[in-house]
Amino acid sequence: MAATHAISDSDALIVVDIQNDFCPDGALAVPRGDEVVPLVNRLAEHFRSVVLTQDWHPPGHLSFASSHPGRSPYDTIAMPYGPQVLWPDHCVQGSPGAAFHKSLHIPHAGLVLRKGTDLTIDSYSALYENDRRTPTGLAGYLRERGITTLFIAGLALDFCVRYSAEDAVAEGFSVVVIEDACRGIDVAGSMAAAQASFAALRVACISSETVCRAVSG
Ligand SMILES: [Zn+2]
Repeated sequence: MAATHAISDSDALIVVDIQNDFCPDGALAVPRGDEVVPLVNRLAEHFRSVVLTQDWHPPGHLSFASSHPGRSPYDTIAMPYGPQVLWPDHCVQGSPGAAFHKSLHIPHAGLVLRKGTDLTIDSYSALYENDRRTPTGLAGYLRERGITTLFIAGLALDFCVRYSAEDAVAEGFSVVVIEDACRGIDVAGSMAAAQASFAALRVACISSETVCRAVSG
């Protein structure tokens, strides 16, 4: 029988980028991305603290292939902060594609964190932009609220979930990825790379059915 993971008030659920553009028919669709929505809705009921992240780019963002003449989506280019995969235009601020999936229903989420808002730098991670140095402020928010463990779910496993998990470990949080509540894109071996990174960092990968509410008091 699988181990269960009891949730307490020092745990937070981080729901990564469950937006229309990352779901089927979206501009940057993650295969079967919409399948995580009911799972995440149910998971959230176990957590007092829930953070929703939202990819939120200005038009002409430098992570868009269309901003680089002669380049195609999924090319990788060198940016001042390191290699950057180029994407189709997606999650443009205020566009329908940037909205959360219509079935995502977590009314008690305490924070919606928008990322990727700087024209010149991408932000896969919920904690740091892609230079891995510019903080979003999320680590401080969580720490001030007494959170020590992050459970992460959402899209895409091999980019925004992976980078968020890595940065959370670096910030001293315990990190758990809820694997069946994530879906990946898999560009050039990125899924295998994510799994290898989780193993190396001892990020626990669990299934949503093992998460249960802690009985307290
Ligand atoms: Zn983006």
